[in-house]
Amino acid sequence: MSTSALADHHNQLPHKGTPALGLIGTLKLVREIFFAKDRIPTQKLPEIRPNFDKFLQPSEHLKFIWFGHSTLLFNLEGQNILLDPVFTNASPVSFLIKRFQPPVVPLEGLPDVQTIVISHDHYDHLDKRTVEFYREKATRFLVPTGVGQHLRDWGIEGHRITELAWHEEVTLDGIKFRAAPAQHFSGRGLFDRNDTLWASWIIEGKADKIYYSGDSGYGPHFQEIGRQYGPFTHAFMENGQYNDRWPDVHMRPEETIQAFIDLNAETLIPVHWGMFDLSLHHWTEPIVRTHGFAQRWDIPLITPQLGEVVDFFHHPSTMWWEPFIPQQKSEKAPSYENLIAPPVTFAEPIGPR
Ligand SMILES: [Zn+2]
Repeated sequence: MSTSALADHHNQLPHKGTPALGLIGTLKLVREIFFAKDRIPTQKLPEIRPNFDKFLQPSEHLKFIWFGHSTLLFNLEGQNILLDPVFTNASPVSFLIKRFQPPVVPLEGLPDVQTIVISHDHYDHLDKRTVEFYREKATRFLVPTGVGQHLRDWGIEGHRITELAWHEEVTLDGIKFRAAPAQHFSGRGLFDRNDTLWASWIIEGKADKIYYSGDSGYGPHFQEIGRQYGPFTHAFMENGQYNDRWPDVHMRPEETIQAFIDLNAETLIPVHWGMFDLSLHHWTEPIVRTHGFAQRWDIPLITPQLGEVVDFFHHPSTMWWEPFIPQQKSEKAPSYENLIAPPVTFAEPIGPR
């Protein structure tokens, strides 16, 4: 796609601006992140070694494994699909942003993957070392417009890469993949901001239609996507790494709930939490808040442990993060007294409309 066509896509964005913190703001933020060490887990999170025999058994319905943050492995009608696979650190500066713990299985331990789907080129979604692992394999890549260049630079042959603009679709071995809008930004360095597109994805088999939000702030695009392409069986939605300094590019949990309602989906699986600490909230806050709102609104929430196989018959909902919630009495712990109350900056989800 030409640069001007890409610019056209940017003009369509439900876009309120990307975070522009400036040099002082960025330095302040780096300092806050560096010194706020009590936001990450002090013990290893529970995890389940994936039962790949169970995962690979034929099924009409989606099976999936969450590896933390936005890394997901799907088995959809026999096709193994990896979403935003990050199996190493998410930052070029590894002392600043670390994984909470190693992946529950290394890349070598995964079954063969037919297709890798990328939402955008940020480090916590597009990982060079993970991509390089697939260089000598036949795995195909589906990426938003412009992201293919990174893959080609890292040695993936062009014929294995499909770049899609929003609303474009491709069918691979009977599975339909469509790139859809998101409200975010892109870039891996100082000089490539918004050079490549970002997207959410719709992945459709015969029985299941799945929505993956990628990274996105809350906006009217969720309702439009729901109207145009819904209903969905599963919605994998980002709910973490939000901050009042960048309200337009990540959702607060109550916005995640509203977006889920807008989309018209059956089950909600929150992602973008639980493996990397990219904001200032405690690592459990996104899921505690999401869980609270989901209960209040009676929304079917799936909360697997790291590595747990989820299928049609097994929808885990254990609150495995509970032991990690900071004690309210601790002076250092963030205040949780308003956990299921909406923040002043965003109204409570207004429900179906
Ligand atoms: Zn992200």
